[in-house]
Amino acid sequence: MFEQLKGLFSNDIGIDLGTANSLVYVRDRGIVLREPSVVAIQAGTNNVLAVGEEAKRMLGRTPGNIIAIRPMKDGVIADFDITGAMLRHFIMRVHHRKLIAPRVVVAVPSGITEVERRAVKDSVTNAGAREVYLIEQPMASAIGVGLPVHEPAGNMIVDIGGGTCEMAIISLAGIVFSRSLRVGGDEFDETITAHMKRAHNLMIGERTAEEIKIRIGSAYPLEAELTMDVKGRDLSTGLPKTITIRSEEIREALKEPLSSILEAIRITLERCPPELAADLVDRGIVLAGGGALLRGIDRLIAEETYLPVHVADDPLSAVAEGTGRVLQELQFLKRVASSSG
Ligand code: ADP
Ligand code: MG
Repeated sequence: MFEQLKGLFSNDIGIDLGTANSLVYVRDRGIVLREPSVVAIQAGTNNVLAVGEEAKRMLGRTPGNIIAIRPMKDGVIADFDITGAMLRHFIMRVHHRKLIAPRVVVAVPSGITEVERRAVKDSVTNAGAREVYLIEQPMASAIGVGLPVHEPAGNMIVDIGGGTCEMAIISLAGIVFSRSLRVGGDEFDETITAHMKRAHNLMIGERTAEEIKIRIGSAYPLEAELTMDVKGRDLSTGLPKTITIRSEEIREALKEPLSSILEAIRITLERCPPELAADLVDRGIVLAGGGALLRGIDRLIAEETYLPVHVADDPLSAVAEGTGRVLQELQFLKRVASSSG
């Protein structure tokens, strides 16, 4: 009874502050908001015009006086004020008319600096939070996919987001080793754009590149290879043109960013203490983040590491689900928060 009443007054909140997408989890309700991490502002000011999907539609299409910004793009906080405005916007949207200020858990990229962590905490406090806890994204991701992180055994998570790929080996609720590289889905899109220019003399936009990746992109040969018609601007005539491309050529283009990820996984495994490495032989690696949805990426990683590789059931929600579980386990929250600052 008391618990139900309490829900009317306060809802604790978990936030996945992603480089591509931000998600908000409200305790007892689950994920209530998913929006691109994009903010549109008036040029030369910090006036926020739009946040999320609405702002994303403006990316690359804005008149001179409006700029659409991805403040977390490379896994570092490019602009404190804009990141703060985005966080405040998300919190306001889920926490209207509540009497008690929420407790907020924010999952942040593991590569951010102490100054950036402070800035996130301050923004969330300014948005009206009663208490703020930060958790590293690979830890949240591992909890969110249901890995038994409390056990004294090695668990490995690889979370491939938009701007970064974060990987960690976790045991006894602590990060034994982690690595964050600035290669992720955005880089896949960029190599596709470069390939279209080089191989087809065709200029394509950011969103088209992402669409190619999602529709026909792959990391491992497909049982049935795919084709797709792509529209862009012919670089020699300057005119719009449509061409048909094949999944094989896109896979070839993705080899380079994928090899950076494989290399980082190899290094992480090398740094792993032997007992924990032995656990990974049975438990394998779990993939999360939107990049885990690239066709065949699990097979590629399995073939390169000789380990079993599983894709999370809902890779895009892993981090937010993790913050939700942390909210539900206050004891655990205190321990995680004190071990990571
Ligand atoms: P972040 O945590 O950095 O915000 P996300 O985990 O939300 O990132 O993943 C976003 C990335 O996943 C984007 O680069 C997007 O293009 C990519 N992505 C989403 N769906 C797919 C898909 N089906 N295949 C390949 N990549 C995808
Ligand atoms: Mg993420």
